[in-house]
Amino acid sequence: MNFRIRYLLLALITIAPLHSQDVNPEDAVLKAFHAISSHDCHAWVEKISSPEFTGRLTGTKGFNDCAAWLSDSLNIWGVSPWGDDGTYLQAFDHQYTLVKPGNYIKLHIPIRKGEIVLNYDYVNEFMPGATSGSGEIMAEVVYVGYGISAPELGFDEYENIDVRGKIVLMEREAPLSPNKDMKKFKKWRKYSFHQYKLENAVKHGAIGMIYNYGPISNPNNSYVPGFIYVHVGDIVVNDIFEGSGRVHEEIVKKIKKNLRPRSFNTRKQVSIKMVTEHVSEATGYNVLGFIEGSDPILKEEVILLGGHLDHLGYCHELIPGANDNASAVAIMMAVARALKSENVVLKRSIGFCFFGAEEQGVVGSKVYLENPPVPLDQTLCLLNMDGVGAGDKLFAMAGKNFPTLWKFIKSANDRYVHRQLKTGYSSNLARPRLDAARFMWANVPTLSFYAYGTPSAYHTPADNMDIITPEIMEDLARIIFMGVVDIANAEQAQFREKIGATSKGDE
Ligand SMILES: [Zn+2]
Repeated sequence: MNFRIRYLLLALITIAPLHSQDVNPEDAVLKAFHAISSHDCHAWVEKISSPEFTGRLTGTKGFNDCAAWLSDSLNIWGVSPWGDDGTYLQAFDHQYTLVKPGNYIKLHIPIRKGEIVLNYDYVNEFMPGATSGSGEIMAEVVYVGYGISAPELGFDEYENIDVRGKIVLMEREAPLSPNKDMKKFKKWRKYSFHQYKLENAVKHGAIGMIYNYGPISNPNNSYVPGFIYVHVGDIVVNDIFEGSGRVHEEIVKKIKKNLRPRSFNTRKQVSIKMVTEHVSEATGYNVLGFIEGSDPILKEEVILLGGHLDHLGYCHELIPGANDNASAVAIMMAVARALKSENVVLKRSIGFCFFGAEEQGVVGSKVYLENPPVPLDQTLCLLNMDGVGAGDKLFAMAGKNFPTLWKFIKSANDRYVHRQLKTGYSSNLARPRLDAARFMWANVPTLSFYAYGTPSAYHTPADNMDIITPEIMEDLARIIFMGVVDIANAEQAQFREKIGATSKGDE
């Protein structure tokens, strides 16, 4: 038989029973459940993280192409558009920075006749600042601790030290962690943002910044024309400290312990070159899809599935973002297709939120919350996923904040999948690191899933197909699928009981 005809017949045979009236709803659910496969998830992650979509930096053509491909898939499966003007897209103003090849950081050590130049390795020792200005600088390096000026806290790391025309070296975050002392941390929170630190360095006249962030890429920062910065790991930091009479690790410990600045001029000469192009006027998108519930009253209530579609684009070279976060997109696709393919009965409605610009400051989820297609008080919950494609275990953040919601998910796993799945309490006080954080602040009960147990290659070019473990995606897709079906058809689905436990924290 001709292959095409055979395929067509097979398709007809599989599709035929869907439209007959006598399919038992429970059979439909189980059939759809079993149709969710690691092969499909794997293939979708491969497609999404391929060079075709150029790493999906929001604002770029690669991101837009990926959003269009995803919209087409949702359309084919019968998921309704839920974005602006009858489309799948929810648009917002956006800007982005491209990082091209040709970047470096070098340490210049003077010797009697000339100098020794230490070159550092891209990825192993440094990563370009993903929103750096473009250009080449050479200057003395001043260590400024966390780069914080907080007079009201009696803590100014730029006090009595001149950084004008120099390069500052600084730590990420704040000297206090939210896990240690939540009350105290709230006062420091605003100083933990990357944007604040970079802009504070600019304000004090620095011309560049060496950010002790580890050699990973992160476009969640400010762009200041001409201000050059780079992310580095321990090797570069320790080389800059070498001969200063100070040990980096000990200085950091002291700052944390006494909350007193330890800034000093390292007298080291460093040159940095970053080749970037900033686009200040672009459009970002969320991709939104909807499955309307069948119950005339309950359909007003919406269960959201969420995961960010974007990643880091090119940062010197392609950063594919297979685990972060093509994996979540693939799982949401698997669930969407399964729910539609067998006409699974859903009394309540389901919304699919593929957020844009998560990597550039958790922007898409903010846009969604400001303009939700269904009011937030009719939004039962968000099941968010971020980094769910590499590992053999699962964690659901905030299950202890929302025990009734968590019960549905735990029960789906316990009955049908049996994957190791843990949960915990989330105070969600730090700067937003997940789309889920914004929903919790907006009083939407939220669980956020991630996978762990194998290397994740976070924000480096190694986050590619090599690290993907497809079975974890099949399992999580099946857990989410069953959880969603159960919530959609439950007599009661009210999860806001403990919402007071989450604090807004952005004062
Ligand atoms: Zn992510």
